Amino acid sequence: MLILGGCFLVVGLFVGRPYCRYLCPYGALLGLLSKVSKWHVDIPPDECIQCRLCEEVCPYGAIREPTVDQSADQRLKGRRRLAGLILLLPVLVAAGVVLGRGLKVPLSRLHPTVRLADRVRLEETGKVSGTIDASEAFRNSGRKVEDLYLDAIRQTKRFSTAGGWLGAWVGLVIGLKLIHLSVRRRRTDYQPDRTNCVSCGRCFWYCPNEQARLGLIADVAATRGKT
Ligand code: SF4
Ligand code: SF4
Repeated sequence: MLILGGCFLVVGLFVGRPYCRYLCPYGALLGLLSKVSKWHVDIPPDECIQCRLCEEVCPYGAIREPTVDQSADQRLKGRRRLAGLILLLPVLVAAGVVLGRGLKVPLSRLHPTVRLADRVRLEETGKVSGTIDASEAFRNSGRKVEDLYLDAIRQTKRFSTAGGWLGAWVGLVIGLKLIHLSVRRRRTDYQPDRTNCVSCGRCFWYCPNEQARLGLIADVAATRGKT
């Protein structure tokens, strides 16, 4: 857990809130619901002068730029890519399950019972000499070695199941992300992506329309002339 947490902290130095944005199951649910939310950040199309200031200042990369029209050939390629990614989704989930379950041995070693069972086994088979405090304490407790081994097997199975679910989830997230990136939506103006936008309001502050509304600049039309 500590290693995983440390990894997320390191990735967080480069990508904002990586766990919340890409892996949190609750966040994924909230992201889906936010697509149909009634109140959300919006840019009225007739007011946007396409200066791109909001895109540059958004800390979450949530502003989507206007799309360019595609040729029929490009649209066909896009549809084929999307179909391929939809077919790839179950493969990614299955690969995630296999990989996740494969991590059961290194992950289960994080559990003290599994570590102790490993140590006792090495001592019992003469592969290491001497004892450590934990193995000594276990022998003094009077418990049977077989019971310890059974406990360790139970814990390893739990790690296998949890690893499988985690792998399936990661595979599903990667697959859905790829599909999401391949789905083409037509936009004529800069628009906040409802899933990624956290409504921090930073883009408002930089938007010339908002500055004009607050009386901080005289005329958006003057800004329009400069863009
Ligand atoms: S409200 Fe914040 S997160 Fe949403 S688009 Fe604007 S700057 Fe980005
Ligand atoms: S800052 Fe305002 S005017 Fe400029 S692109 Fe964004 S929404 Fe449009």
